[in-house]
Amino acid sequence: MSSTRPRICGARIALTQDMWRPAYDAGPGKPGLVRGSLVCELAEHAATGQHCGVARRFPGPLGGAAWALWVDGGEPSFVARDDCARTGALPAGAQESCLLFERHPDPCMSAQDAYAQSPTRLPRAFEALKALGEAGRHEPAAVRAAAEEAALLTWDELRSRDVWAVLAGWEHAAVYRLMSWAHSRTLTPDVLSGLVRELTGFVRHCEARTPSAARPGAGGEEAVVMLDRLGALPEPWQAAVLGDQREETRGPALSFSHAPRRSRPRPGLDQALADAAESSARGEPPPPAAGRYEWDLADRRRLGATAYERLVRLPHEWQVDAVRQIAAGTEAISAVSDAAGSINIIRGFGVYLAWNAPHHCHPPHATQETTTAH
Ligand SMILES: [Zn+2]
Ligand SMILES: [Zn+2]
Repeated sequence: MSSTRPRICGARIALTQDMWRPAYDAGPGKPGLVRGSLVCELAEHAATGQHCGVARRFPGPLGGAAWALWVDGGEPSFVARDDCARTGALPAGAQESCLLFERHPDPCMSAQDAYAQSPTRLPRAFEALKALGEAGRHEPAAVRAAAEEAALLTWDELRSRDVWAVLAGWEHAAVYRLMSWAHSRTLTPDVLSGLVRELTGFVRHCEARTPSAARPGAGGEEAVVMLDRLGALPEPWQAAVLGDQREETRGPALSFSHAPRRSRPRPGLDQALADAAESSARGEPPPPAAGRYEWDLADRRRLGATAYERLVRLPHEWQVDAVRQIAAGTEAISAVSDAAGSINIIRGFGVYLAWNAPHHCHPPHATQETTTAH
């Protein structure tokens, strides 16, 4: 990339729900979802200047968008603008159009410029991760802001370094899942430590000289294998294996019970799959579920069957990420629901995914910023 090309400002702002109404009112009657978070898409400008980012694009042949205008620390206002028709600073013959609006401040910006490297982005991401690591010392609103900042800056950085195009689809799913956690999950100690651990892994991956398709040690390839093994099992075994992948009860949960409620430790997913494959090959049905109460046993199998049904409806790369979460200790039904919820939530970030993906692994795609009919 030539150094004469402009670099995006990249200032980020979160659009909270109370800002959605004015964002819709800026283009009354026009379709297009409001984004939950947006960046200033202008070329780098004076720190005191006004930022401009797309709050929602108007799909259709006429184009245009509702733009948010804000200054650092201020509330945004919204205006509808037609797309820029110039190709001012773009190199001659480039097959790129300007992402900005009519009569925007110079220069024009292309998608290639949009995620150009920013020297301040990684330090800002590390700063936010540090704040997350000491969450107990900050106000809840500040922790939420740091979580969003860390997730979104990591996403920007991955895209700016061409690492994004190299990453496996299930790593994209993980980034989107983390963005959705940062945006809307209750920030419990478990969620916070997951955010810090996984986002740090991605940030380090950005810094690697030759980044691989998957984060080393993050269990992606293993999850691909486990997903295949799960799919090869007979239905009752799929329900049994996933039904046993539950949250472990930690000690007595009810005040009148003095006995530990855990009947036996939860089997590891890889071990459970190996055992199930062996037994089902001998034609054996799953053994009775282990648990303390009759209702509990029936419930486990029912939830296991539901988890499998919902799992296979997810896009393939999301199935892999969900299996990875289960193998790491998340309850099966929770991991699958979390994936489905995340796919919906990241639409607020302008990411639209096809719900029903092919059942086979496909090469990682460079961008998901395409609209998909549902
Ligand atoms: Zn700006
Ligand atoms: Zn332009």
